[in-house]
Amino acid sequence: YNDEEYEDELTMREFGFEDIKVKYRVVLLGESGVGKSALVRQFMTSEYINTYDMSLEYGEREVSVLLDSKESDLVFIDHPCVEMSVENSLATYEPHACVVVYSVTDRRSFEFASEILRYLWQEGTTHERSVILVGNKCDLARARVISSQEGKQLATNHDSKFIETSSGIQHNVDELLVGVLKQIRLREAASIP
Ligand code: GDP
Ligand code: MG
Repeated sequence: YNDEEYEDELTMREFGFEDIKVKYRVVLLGESGVGKSALVRQFMTSEYINTYDMSLEYGEREVSVLLDSKESDLVFIDHPCVEMSVENSLATYEPHACVVVYSVTDRRSFEFASEILRYLWQEGTTHERSVILVGNKCDLARARVISSQEGKQLATNHDSKFIETSSGIQHNVDELLVGVLKQIRLREAASIP
């Protein structure tokens, strides 16, 4: 070892990749009543969740997810848009991913989600971060007013991913959790030269 090499190794050990653990922030957006809190609650029961911390401030949940033999920390930030604008929410939390939720039984919530997507698109957020459009409450088949096709189209038009879920009957909730993490990992891998 010369001094330089020694210092390099020290730096590697002190700041080595295994020691840097980013907490990925995921913001849930969408109209009140679409099931954002219910989805986050259901995430906690997923088999992919290693541990979770309930001692965080209201509206935030930190979880550790084990996927493809790799552990990642995710923080879910569940803020109703009525209290905080999307713009504020992005500036405050600098999320790695945005999950935009509507209810398939409520056209107004779909319009609301589409306004959010349009905003994220215009701001360039969809180019930098993962945006996932979620049509929730798909268990309520008879009350459905938004078709899967319509949801998919909206997401595609705004360069976003799409999934339909039901936090009520646990449909696609794991898939959403895993999908969010996969999207974040893909973006991260793509940004490393
Ligand atoms: P938030 O305001 O977006 O956080 O919505 P909540 O999670 O508080 O849910 C609003 C209401 O919708 C509650 O009464 C939930 O029980 C109900 N809800 C949420 N998700 C579903 C779902 O997938 N299916 C059904 N049938 N009801 C749901
Ligand atoms: Mg809520």
